[in-house]
Amino acid sequence: MASPPETPAHPPVHALEWLAVCAGIKPVSRHLLALSEQAAVEFAARRDDLVTQYLWSEAYLRGFRTRTGDAHAGVVFVGKSAAAVARAAVAEERTMALRDRCWLHGGPRARAPAAIELGAALGYPACCTEFFARHGLRESNAQLRARALRATDGPIDWRLHNTDFAQSLISHFVCSYRCSASISLADALLDALRREHPEEATRLVGVLQATLPALVDRLDGRSPAGQTPPEPVQ
Ligand SMILES: [Zn+2]
Repeated sequence: MASPPETPAHPPVHALEWLAVCAGIKPVSRHLLALSEQAAVEFAARRDDLVTQYLWSEAYLRGFRTRTGDAHAGVVFVGKSAAAVARAAVAEERTMALRDRCWLHGGPRARAPAAIELGAALGYPACCTEFFARHGLRESNAQLRARALRATDGPIDWRLHNTDFAQSLISHFVCSYRCSASISLADALLDALRREHPEEATRLVGVLQATLPALVDRLDGRSPAGQTPPEPVQ
């Protein structure tokens, strides 16, 4: 079995997202973390010449899925400049504050501008960020993915397989499973991964392609039969 990527071995956060920032593909990455993980994140950030900014709020993060079973205590933004990480942190802080208010003043409509700003700060495609702001603040993750599938005109592109963000080339909810802006991001990250960790790139492509039919089944029962088979690894 292929070993996980050596870089970044130290940050206990999403390694692919970290690589996307190091490679200049995304301005900022966003990671949930436990308090005990901060020292390792800081070590890796210094090593890779990256800047961090933290928001600590256990209450806000309750309900988010955890990696290790430890409670997430905060969010860390990682980027190449203080201005870039601050932009993302300010936008997330606004969504936190709005969510704490009553439904009338903190509902999905009120939070949409902050969600759009956060998506832009993280380098997500505008089409997908607007899709998320319009629907994602009201719907579950599964509903949102199913909506994107219904908006997909043609075969699903395996590079946008995002059932599990820990095993995904993209870290956002796509507006469709053929979104060209998202495919460009995925291609750039896959190229960087192939340069830095070719074995991990091969492993990940294999996982994404092998589990694509399950994604289709899980979202709305569309049969994978008739779908264009995933493209072979370049
Ligand atoms: Zn899109």
